[in-house]
Amino acid sequence: MLELKNQTAVITGAGKGIGRAVAEALAAEGVHLGLIARTASDLETLRGELTEKYGVNVFVQAADVSVRTEIEAAVQALHEQLGAVDILINNAGIASFGKLVDMDPEEWERIIRVNLMGAYYTTRAALPFMIEQNSGNILNVASTAGERGFATGSAYCASKAALISMSEALMQEVRKSNIRVVTLNPSTVNTELASNNNLPIGDEDRMMQPEDVADLALATLKLPARVFVKSAGIWTTNPQ
Ligand code: NAD
Repeated sequence: MLELKNQTAVITGAGKGIGRAVAEALAAEGVHLGLIARTASDLETLRGELTEKYGVNVFVQAADVSVRTEIEAAVQALHEQLGAVDILINNAGIASFGKLVDMDPEEWERIIRVNLMGAYYTTRAALPFMIEQNSGNILNVASTAGERGFATGSAYCASKAALISMSEALMQEVRKSNIRVVTLNPSTVNTELASNNNLPIGDEDRMMQPEDVADLALATLKLPARVFVKSAGIWTTNPQ
């Protein structure tokens, strides 16, 4: 198992849900963090908590991942503050569901812009640092929705399928630089994203929690560098 202590990680959408759980799990391993949120002040409390509890450095930058200039500036600033970007977690994401003919085209496009373009912009900004240091780990939080489409999910499923596909292509491009690109594909997780969209979360004791995805992220990051994982999917109930 690889030691993560004193590595550095940039996490998008770290304010709540899965991103927050991953941030805490990495801090507990001694990883220094660069957290990105649309409003940096939203993350000040989390920064204080993680710094005090785990003694790691935590820097915060404001950026909307779907705005290229903003996310490029944020990644650049975090690289300067952290001194390196060893781990990138593309977690920021949004969801809304509706029949393709009924959905507002602007909403459809917004989902693609955040979930796909956002991960692309962030990766494009961080990758040169990883190539330069000849190592890195990129975890893209996709979804089982990207593995198989379902009714009302045309935008969300398409965004996550494209993210999976982009990750596989990138994996082939950067493996020679010892950079691993992995998609994490959870089924429904108990977060605001799920409850706001009335997603079936499952019964009380089999509800997947953000911390379960954080455990998966940690397990993936701790695999020896020689191991290339394409994707890691987790379900708490049987796949249908
Ligand atoms: P969440 O709504 O609790 O958290 C999402 C985070 O992303 C928030 O902090 C939000 O502010 C941030 N964010 C959204 N748009 C952003 C933007 N344009 N720029 C910067 N930050 C932005 O949701 P979650 O369930 O924790 O989702 C995290 C990721 O996991 C998403 O990519 C989501 O698609 C994926 N996912 C969620 C589930 C689920 O059931 N909850 C299942 C599979 C995959």
